[in-house]
Order: sequence, then C-alpha cells, then structure tokens
Amino acid sequence: MTAETPDLQIAHYAEHQAPILLIYLDKSGIIIHANRFAACHLGDNLVGKTFQDMPLNFHGMFQLSQASACSSAAHLLNFNTTRGCLQTYQFYFYTSNNQIIALGHLDVDEIESISNELIAANQELNNLTRQLNFKNRELARANEKITELTRIDPLTQLSNRRYFSERIEDMISLANRKSQPLSLIMIDIDHFKSINDTYGHDAGDRVLQAFAGLMKINTRKEDLVSRFGGEEFIILLPFTDILQAYDFSERIRTDLSRKNLLGNGRQITASFGVSRLMPDEGSESVLKRADRALLQAKTLGRNRTVMNETQTLYRPDT
Ligand code: GH3
Ligand code: MG
Ligand code: MG
Repeated sequence: MTAETPDLQIAHYAEHQAPILLIYLDKSGIIIHANRFAACHLGDNLVGKTFQDMPLNFHGMFQLSQASACSSAAHLLNFNTTRGCLQTYQFYFYTSNNQIIALGHLDVDEIESISNELIAANQELNNLTRQLNFKNRELARANEKITELTRIDPLTQLSNRRYFSERIEDMISLANRKSQPLSLIMIDIDHFKSINDTYGHDAGDRVLQAFAGLMKINTRKEDLVSRFGGEEFIILLPFTDILQAYDFSERIRTDLSRKNLLGNGRQITASFGVSRLMPDEGSESVLKRADRALLQAKTLGRNRTVMNETQTLYRPDT
C-alpha cells in the first residue's frame, strides 16, 4: 500500500463529504472525476467537460496552470446549477501528481442569504397561518351568528317556526327512543287585533314581547318556546305528560291574565290547547290535535286551557 500525500488524503476525505464539491482535472482543465455532490450541484456527466467553460465568470480571472501558486486563495465562481438557479461557490485549487484538485462549497454569504430568505419566508408563512386561523375563527363565529339569526324571531327573541319544525322531529325521536312523554301547548292571544286597534301596533308588539318573556322564565332549559306566527306561540315540553303540561299551561294563563302588561288595567288573556305525543305519532298529527284543542278553547269562550284527548277542563279565572 503506497502512502498518500496529505493533499490526496484530504481529497479522499472530501470525496464523500456532502457539502464539499470535489473535482479532479487534468493539466489542461478537463474534468476527470467529480464526486456525487458536485454532480448533484453542477450536473451529471461532468467528466470530459472543460472546467473553464462551466462557471459563468471564470475566464480572465484565473488560469488553471497557476493553481498551485494560488492554492491558498478562494475563488468565487458562479454556476448555473441543476436546480435552475445561479449560485456562487468558493473554489480552492491544488495540484497533486500532475492533476488539479478543485474543492468547492456554497459561498457562505450565499448560504446565509438563502437561509435568511428561508427564515423570512417561514415567518411570513407563520404570520399568514395565524391570520388565516384568526379569519377562520371569525368566519366560524359569523356562521354561528347567521345560523342563530335564522332560528330566532327578532321581535320576541324566541325560536321561530322554522327552528321549531326542525327541533320537534328530534324531540319526537328522543321521546320514542327513551319511552318518555312529550307534550305540546299551542297558544293564541285573545282579541289581539283589538289591542292593536285600540292601543296601536307598538303596544301590541310590547304585549308580544312581555308574553314571550313570561313564557321563557316559566320554562325549563330543555323546553322549546317558539313564536309560531303573529300572536300564536307553541311550547314543546319533553319528559312531560299531558296533566303536567295542562298544569303548566294554566299557570302561564293565570299569570298572564293577572298581569297589567299595558299599564292601563286592561286584562290580556290567551287560549291554550294541549296535546301529548301518542305512540307512533308524527309531528303533524300531534300539532293538529293541539290546534283542535286551541280552537275548542276559543269556541268555549277563550282564556282557558283545553286538553285534546280528554274532557275539556275549565278552571275559571279567579
Ligand atoms: P282571537 O281571540 O280569535 O285569536 O282574535 P285575535 O284578534 O287575536 O285574532 P286575529 O287573527 O283576528 O288577529 C290577530 C292580529 O295579530 C292581527 C295581526 O295584525 C296581529 N299581529 C300579527 N303579528 C303581529 C305583530 O308582530 N305585532 C303586532 N303588534 N300585531 C301582530
Ligand atoms: Mg291567531
Ligand atoms: Mg288571537
């Protein structure tokens, strides 16, 4: 085994060091060997090419024949790389055994500027991601608000009929699944037109709002109070049998009739129709039965609660 000179030993070491481009040239500047990293940066098939023709700024700057004399000086050379961009490399040239060894690496300034660009791009990306997350949260909140608005009656702040129609189906399936009772109360304010006619539409609106508030504070969280339209309301009471619904209805009815909502002593009353969900019954049918009971309450003289499937119960207001 022949002993290698130190420059050859270094060249062998450099052969496999990823950041170092190692190129062997003959005296005339023809490439006779390039390591993997050089091929990776400057292109395959380097062997046989003239080194002088490869860098963009080589001519006139440096004569290969002077390599040994200039071995300690770094040469900044620009190459069109395989990545399709112009990059600056620092090259050192040494002569050994009638060959020229070129050792190169990416220029430090170049690495620094690429790395700074990367850091800046990363920060920009982080900022954009943060902004995007913020906008997404805003959008989600706006969507929630829109959904809420489509469910709420603006005058009374109760659920609207559309939301009621959605919820009743869920509540019916829950009641069936859990074998629990579900009751329904339909309400219509008595002679409301005459309230509007006598005291004005705004006074009518205030009555609707006050009545909505009265129902709301008397119901549980799981109950659903909705404005069905005009001066008609509906309350869905899960886990409530018809007698409990009746008692609840009567409590609201008497409460309303005793309140002085207009502030002028005029009594305001409402009529109530109660039904309960029968086995295998759908929403349309249970609603229809509550509506029939309400109609009956009106026919019987208003200001009362009628239960659909049993005898009419009438408790005169005292
Ligand atoms: P009944 O006892 O038979 O229910 O008689 P009523 O006068 O309450 O019923 P009618 O259907 O004749 O009149 C309901 C009135 O409710 C007519 C309508 O102008 C009024 N109304 C509907 N929506 C609103 C509203 O949002 N605000 C006000 N102020 N009035 C409303
Ligand atoms: Mg009505
Ligand atoms: Mg009415």
